[in-house]
Amino acid sequence: MIERYETLKAEILEKSDRWRTAMDLGWLAIDHTFVEGFSEEDAQTICETNSHWEYREARIRWYMASASRLTEKELDLTVLHEIVHTITDPMEKHVKNAYSEQCEYVVTCISKAILATRDYYEAPAGSRLPMSFNEALER
Ligand SMILES: [Zn+2]
Repeated sequence: MIERYETLKAEILEKSDRWRTAMDLGWLAIDHTFVEGFSEEDAQTICETNSHWEYREARIRWYMASASRLTEKELDLTVLHEIVHTITDPMEKHVKNAYSEQCEYVVTCISKAILATRDYYEAPAGSRLPMSFNEALER
């Protein structure tokens, strides 16, 4: 794997471990795999998550050519988004065929709310301002 992808791979693994720790998801095993190029089906696809929620396991396949286009914040949100998919997967498997856009909406809202919460608590204490839900969605 080319060097800049090695750095990105380490960053993805570190972010995934940090989120799992912060969210107390040590019981969830996530196996990340990395492909150097783009997805053959859709060059916009950053990664694909395949969850086996009944075993508390998930596999996330990263397309490094796509992932390398993300800003740090977008990468954080993408890692978080995929982790949230692994949590909501038992529900998604029931409704995905008819409501896949709604599933993405819910996962995106939850991910952004978690990210906004982290940013709120990481801000210096005197500068913390409550953020509206809509503000968090626009980030
Ligand atoms: Zn998604």
